Amino acid sequence: TLQLIWLRRDLRSRDNTALYQASQNGPVICIWFSFPGQWQEHNDSPNKLWFWLENIKVLEKNLSVLNIPLLTRNLNRFADAPEALLQVAKELGCQNLWFNDEYGINEQRRDDAVEQAFQQQGFNCHRFTDDVLIKPGQLLNKQGQPFKVFTPFRKALYRDLTPEQHQPYPAPAKQKPLKGQLSSDPLPDIQPTLSETNLWPAGEKAAHQQLKAFIQDKSESYKDDRDFPARPGTSMLSSYLTTGVLSVRQCFSAARQANSGELDTGNAGLTTWMSELIWREFYRHILVCFPKVCMSKAFQPETDQIPWKQDTDLLTAWQEGRTGVPIVDAAMRQLVATGWMHNRLRMVVAMYLSKDLRLDWRLGESFFMKHLVDGDIASNNGGWQWAASTGTDAAPYFRMFNPVSQSEKFDPDGDFLRQWLPELRELDNKSIHNPNAGNSLFTDESLYPSPLVDHSKARAATLEAFKKIKKQN
Ligand code: FAD
Repeated sequence: TLQLIWLRRDLRSRDNTALYQASQNGPVICIWFSFPGQWQEHNDSPNKLWFWLENIKVLEKNLSVLNIPLLTRNLNRFADAPEALLQVAKELGCQNLWFNDEYGINEQRRDDAVEQAFQQQGFNCHRFTDDVLIKPGQLLNKQGQPFKVFTPFRKALYRDLTPEQHQPYPAPAKQKPLKGQLSSDPLPDIQPTLSETNLWPAGEKAAHQQLKAFIQDKSESYKDDRDFPARPGTSMLSSYLTTGVLSVRQCFSAARQANSGELDTGNAGLTTWMSELIWREFYRHILVCFPKVCMSKAFQPETDQIPWKQDTDLLTAWQEGRTGVPIVDAAMRQLVATGWMHNRLRMVVAMYLSKDLRLDWRLGESFFMKHLVDGDIASNNGGWQWAASTGTDAAPYFRMFNPVSQSEKFDPDGDFLRQWLPELRELDNKSIHNPNAGNSLFTDESLYPSPLVDHSKARAATLEAFKKIKKQN
């Protein structure tokens, strides 16, 4: 009998656990829902949604080659899913629904409600772990508790991880064409706000080409290059991973294979890259084991007492890349123009917002979500709470980047700064990092602003605020 697969953040035909398993049980049909009301509530960016929709179009074509239809339907909120899915299942005569688990709290509640509704009516729900290497909540420390620190988490995960466990599944086999189909709703028309759309070609083919090129050409120097935003040193695969066009198994297997099956030893570039994939994994486990982080709560509760400043001018200047600190401004312009920001710079601008400007990290978290093509609640929240020293395994509160030193260290020739701040192009390699340190060119604020805050004073005030909270608790 016909098997119904609900696709969500797993927009791929190859190595899709639910799709593959369902296809072992009969002919399959896929469905995808839009949830504009829910997306808005989750701050999902038009850039991410546009990328998602482009990938659905490609997937629909790829699946049609296998005679697998992909229906698309427009709903509004997650709460609409159980009824809509049951209706489709009944119309198609499908007794079984198959899907891969998602880990945000609202997504989990939605999926539990769907499962319950199906069971109540005598239908079956088959759920799979697919977005991670190990089911969140399964990996525990010696005390039987979830890990709160990354390195022991990674070590525990690596201890027993055999290549077979992350071996990707093949695509389902071509099936006979299905008769009498249901109609689809037109996909929502969502235009991206980013200007450089050519950075994000849609589809599995493009994603696999990029993965292959990274493993072949860049992975060995990844450890040396990954912190320099002017070098094309990272994989730029995050948007494919976030929408599930690529799976973590596919990435991890490719890297492990290139590293002769080793995890912790071998090529330093490959081991570092695999370790970054485990950061993604770690934050997903945190999301499930500590769902408060999904609900705008700090992981370390006492840090919610920090007196964050209420200052919309500071926030707007940060958002618009007008802080007077070139590395911060260049990074923010990269984010808005491309929907992506280099990891080193995500750390720099997040620390600058939360420690130099002392604005609430949640403001930065939501601004990132509104622009990122790879916006992902687990990794974004994890990254923000790390930078603000409010999270698991966070940077200790007394560790504060000096943004100018970061700029000098990781963009020594100012190449990245010149790319995004044409107004600074003529400056020499030293003064470009801190143009208002005695440079008469910029006495005119309209050309380039003076720094919003003095780093050493801001540093001292933030340290004081953290110390006070730590003493009280
Ligand atoms: P690569 O360096 O090639 O890494 C490979 C993959 O590993 C990435 O695609 C990503 O899936 C994963 N990864 C790498 N670093 C991290 C990390 N620190 N945490 C979690 N996963 C990681 N990543 C997102 O995918 N979505 C987000 O919304 C997001 N928000 C972030 C916010 C902040 C404040 C910080 C500090 C980091 C954030 N990251 C986020 C993590 C990281 O910056 C991006 O994954 C990375 O820059 C993507 O580029 P890449 O694909 O070239 O990465």
